[in-house]
This record gives sequence, C-alpha cells and structure tokens, in this order.
Amino acid sequence: MSDLNIGVLGIQGAYEKHALSVSLAGAKAEIIKYREQLTHIDGLILPGGESTTMTKMMGFRIGYEDILAFAKKRPVFGTCAGLILLGKGIEDNRVHQFELMDVSVTRNAYGSQKDSFVDNLNLEFDPGNPFHAVFIRAPRIENIGKDIRVLARCEDMPVLVESDLYLGASFHPELTPDPRIHKYFIQKIMEV
Ligand code: GLN
Repeated sequence: MSDLNIGVLGIQGAYEKHALSVSLAGAKAEIIKYREQLTHIDGLILPGGESTTMTKMMGFRIGYEDILAFAKKRPVFGTCAGLILLGKGIEDNRVHQFELMDVSVTRNAYGSQKDSFVDNLNLEFDPGNPFHAVFIRAPRIENIGKDIRVLARCEDMPVLVESDLYLGASFHPELTPDPRIHKYFIQKIMEV
C-alpha cells in the first residue's frame, strides 16, 4: 500500500467505483466535493458521467478554476466524460474543457447507452494480457497532438492516451475488477 492519496471528483457520475479501484491498486482514495480537499491529494481522477452536467455542477463548493489550478501542477486521470473535460476543441458550449491534453473528441460517437460494448484491449505497458474495457456512450478520440502517447487502441482508434501529467481513457476502467490502469496512474504520480 502506498501512502498516496488519490482524489476522485465527486460532483457527478461514476466516482464511487473509482475509489474502489484506487484501493485495489494500493493507494488511498478520497471523494472530492469541496475545493479545500484539493490541498491534500497527490492526483485527481475525473470520472465518467455526463460532461455537460459536470460543467454545470462546477461552482459553489468546487469550481472550474480550482480544478484547473490543481491540474496544472499535479497528475489527473480523466475517464470517459472526464477525458472529454481534459481535452480541447469540443464544439458544444455546454462543455467547458480544461484544455490540458492535446486530444480532441466527439461525444457519444459510439452510440447511445444501448450501444455500450466491451472490448479486450492490449495495453502498451502490459502487452499480451487483455484488459476488458467497458465503453458507455463513449467519446471517440479523433485527433491527438504530437506529445500524446497512445497506450491502447480499439479498432485502430486510440482509447487510452497519456501526456506528461495526464492520462485519459474513453472507457470506464473502474467497472472492471482489474486495477492495472489505476496502478499505472499511481506510478505516474510517483514519477512526477
Ligand atoms: N456521453 C457522456 C458525455 O458526453 C460521457 C459518457 C460517460 O462518461 N460514460 O459526457
């Protein structure tokens, strides 16, 4: 067990399961609902959910600027809606992106809730041991900048990407009882 404290933004979406995955991966998890909590965490997970709703809910207790200030200095892992928020260039003014990753996405590009699917991904950092990835109203990563490393693909399109401080998944790694991707994030935090 490491003594790292990983925050999971708890304003909307699938945050409880992420906390379990963080524990499985060997770190402490804290659900973050207030800006004051950002002062004692080592990294932050932006969970899946609904990026438009998350944008709307940011404000009184914890706001866009609080998260941005934290994320400029410390590692952040965005999953699904969380990845949408980390990226840039979205043409939807209901979503306020942090523009921290040079990744552009199309929301809901794989269809609606009923088109959710599971795919076995080959992880670049653990090849040959498939990761069962759950895609739910997932964004499709359309363009990536030159600083972005692709860590997994689904049908040739990037689905797990990283840059210096950031990690982004278009699927829900917290819905699979396999902590490898959360462990990878913890490792990343230890290296900064
Ligand atoms: N479709 C959602 C959005 O646009 C993301 C879905 C998810 O996080 N599972 O924000």
